Amino acid sequence: MKALFILLFCSIVVFANTIEYYEDKSLSYSSKNISSNKEFSTYSKEKSNFGMTRSIYWLKLVFENKLSQPSKKIVNFSFPLLDKITLYKEEQNILKKLQVIGNLVQKSEDELIEPKLSLHLGLDANRSTTYYISVKSAAPMNLDMNFYSPKEFANYKVIWLSSIAFYVGAVLIILLYNLILYLFIRVRAYLYYVLFHSSFLFLILALDGALAQFVYPQYPELSMFIIPLAITVTAGLQILFVYEFLEIKKHGKISKKLMLSSMGYAVFIFIFIMFSPYQESILLANTVSLIGLIIPLAIAVYYWVRLKSISAKFYVIAWFLITLGVIVEHLKNSGLIESNLFTINAMQMGIIIELLMISLALAYRFNQLRDQNKELNTLAITDSMTKIKNRRYFLERMEVLIKLLKRRSEEHTLIMLDIDYFKSVNDNFGHAIGDKVLVEFSRKVTSILREEDLFARIGGEEFIILARANKEEVLGLTTRIRTEIESMQVSSDKGSVKFTVSMGVTFFNDASKRVDELLHEADEALYKAKENGRNRVEFFITEN
Ligand code: GH3
Ligand code: MG
Ligand code: MG
Repeated sequence: MKALFILLFCSIVVFANTIEYYEDKSLSYSSKNISSNKEFSTYSKEKSNFGMTRSIYWLKLVFENKLSQPSKKIVNFSFPLLDKITLYKEEQNILKKLQVIGNLVQKSEDELIEPKLSLHLGLDANRSTTYYISVKSAAPMNLDMNFYSPKEFANYKVIWLSSIAFYVGAVLIILLYNLILYLFIRVRAYLYYVLFHSSFLFLILALDGALAQFVYPQYPELSMFIIPLAITVTAGLQILFVYEFLEIKKHGKISKKLMLSSMGYAVFIFIFIMFSPYQESILLANTVSLIGLIIPLAIAVYYWVRLKSISAKFYVIAWFLITLGVIVEHLKNSGLIESNLFTINAMQMGIIIELLMISLALAYRFNQLRDQNKELNTLAITDSMTKIKNRRYFLERMEVLIKLLKRRSEEHTLIMLDIDYFKSVNDNFGHAIGDKVLVEFSRKVTSILREEDLFARIGGEEFIILARANKEEVLGLTTRIRTEIESMQVSSDKGSVKFTVSMGVTFFNDASKRVDELLHEADEALYKAKENGRNRVEFFITEN
């Protein structure tokens, strides 16, 4: 329990007695003469980032050890992209080179599992020990250092390794899940989301130094090439993802233009930095990442406030969480808040929560899409006036049925219905009452039919029934429809409307006839019913 507590909340204390630094602009110092330099200034953690520079920085550290036995200190540089750091120990006024580390220096076996850039210092017993460190960097000269006792450093190592493993594992699981979803449902936002976050994961690991450490330890100089490209690609994919996620193409001309030009800029810079030196590349890549952050965020805020877009809301909140993580990280780096498992991993935790939130938002979007599709589908197969199925749906179903009947035979019937003298209903009572008659008629027939029967409107006042029934059953059914319609009354302000219906019936039990042939048969029978006086049912009879 105590071990766990130490593990979680080990705090980092500056322990060197004096730390000074010197900026060697003209590169005139070396280990031979640096100890004669008297122009060192006091180092402070708050002002330890010196930005982009071509100078070499020298650090001078003096440790006082009052104990009667030698002890050890570990200096950890929290910025992993320093190119070359050389450690010298002063012994009888001569500097002895002890260790070389850095982003561009191949790591030894032991150093591979150490977080970022660490120097191991031995402190002699009963006296002070002086160390010199020279630093060269094409990335910003960020000389933020933390000091650990061997025991504290062991704890830190465990936290660092396990949090990388946890972070990578969690992100990969979420991404894999969304990738599988994409493969199933083919909503493009999912794909861009997975691509953007894969690239983001790659970038975070590259910036943390973990990538160079675990993936390509033999080629540390690859970082110079990979980091600016990873920044640009991540920003570009971020823009692409938001473009799809917020459906920008659909919503706004200005936001569409803004997004497309940002994307164009990202592509341009991507090509440009392939041929640029590291320092320029980093600067250019950072402009892309700034644009990739600000423009989508600004548009998302606008969409949230103005268009009440739920996706935009999720996006803004998610990014707020990451930003919070970054702020906590900065506060921790500048020593304003304590360094522990939570503050060390604040940004990573922010990203994991963001990942989950966007996953949720995508699921929400997908549900919405599915509901809309369902609605559209229903609209496409329904007759808007009578709310029964339309001609198109009937024909589709018939095609399917005929295919089925190729394999097994089953008795089916088609009943074509046409209201008698419907023109005169329109003429005498008006078109609106004609419509009302059609609606009431449909309702009545529906109430008579079974759930599994198909009833569709295939023309103005022409309807069709597809049912699984034999001759006897059809006789019963059509008689019932005919008599119930006959006795029906539809009210109007000119008195109640009465009407009748004629029906033509045909049977089929295999796939020997096409749909239009069957319809023609039913129509022929219907024509006979009309001929024979209306308000009656006729059956189609084959000649042979
Ligand atoms: P019958 O079928 O008995 O031979 O006579 P009919 O008067 O019904 O003749 P026909 O089927 O040729 O006429 C159909 C009429 O239905 C013509 C058209 O004005 C009317 N009609 C078609 N669609 C609608 C509609 O949606 N609403 C209304 N009110 N009338 C419609
Ligand atoms: Mg008619
Ligand atoms: Mg008709």
